[in-house]
Amino acid sequence: MSFLSGFIAIIGPPNVGKSTLLNRLLGQKIAITSPKPQTTRNRILGIYNEDDCQMVFIDTPGIHQTRSLLHKSMVGSAKSSLGEVDIILLVVGSEEPANNSELNIILRILGKTDKTAILAINKIDLLKKEDLLPIIEIYSKMDRFDSILPVSALHDDGLENLIGELKKKLSPGPQFFPTDMITDKSEKFLIAEIVREKIYYHTREELPYSCAVTIERIQEDPKKNLLAVMATIFVEKLSQKRIIIGKNGGMIKKIGSNARMEMERIFSSHVYLELFVKIEKNWSSDTRSLRRLGY
Ligand code: GDP
Ligand code: MG
Repeated sequence: MSFLSGFIAIIGPPNVGKSTLLNRLLGQKIAITSPKPQTTRNRILGIYNEDDCQMVFIDTPGIHQTRSLLHKSMVGSAKSSLGEVDIILLVVGSEEPANNSELNIILRILGKTDKTAILAINKIDLLKKEDLLPIIEIYSKMDRFDSILPVSALHDDGLENLIGELKKKLSPGPQFFPTDMITDKSEKFLIAEIVREKIYYHTREELPYSCAVTIERIQEDPKKNLLAVMATIFVEKLSQKRIIIGKNGGMIKKIGSNARMEMERIFSSHVYLELFVKIEKNWSSDTRSLRRLGY
């Protein structure tokens, strides 16, 4: 038997659990997640290996209608990943698809390609059993999906089936990446993303979307098993800087200690994390700032 491989784009509306699903499939956190839409800003490769196959997943920012420059770049990267893959994995939430304008845009895009498409209906833990079948029916009537799988990424339900189904659709091909490589993103990227994730969890309204995080310095001290990180949180205006810092520095302490604890878990090391807050006016609508901040 020959080795099987393929590129798989994970697409779907914002907030349906695409990044959660990817982390669970890989058994490791490489993409941050949050209850807020548009958490994922960059495309991230996640590499899944078995002895006889390799699946290269591409996690994308959700596809949605948009005006802002940051969001344009996010949606653009989601759409362009479709051209480069062998299989499209569409993830949707377990609510009914009607009236979901974002989903309808995606279905229109899907209609224009004849690539293998697999549908994962996620968050079935939120659904009564009898409500699942009618939803599956709606999607199977579309006659576009090679298979439809109900899953719960959060509760690790149906994921083995999903992997099995994807494996059936792979073609003979090379091992594109070494088996010890799980993502194309650096440790530095993940560290910045973890800080950004905690901002998403602790702040509200437009604030998370006005934040970007860069890493100024990472120093490893293997003798002390210590990782020292200096990071900057960029916001767009003074009022946002005040919120991020919080009363008596309470907010930034909370963000910092949550981020530090998560990094300590992921890297199995002590972490010393120093956070700074800077204002960069309107960075999310300025091409040059966007590029500098990694978008
Ligand atoms: P993305 O925007 O599609 O990448 O979505 P995320 O992966 O960031 O997840 C969005 C939210 O949905 C987070 O709060 C997740 O914890 C939650 N979520 C993801 N998968 C499931 C699931 O299977 N069940 C439930 N109840 N929540 C989920
Ligand atoms: Mg995501």
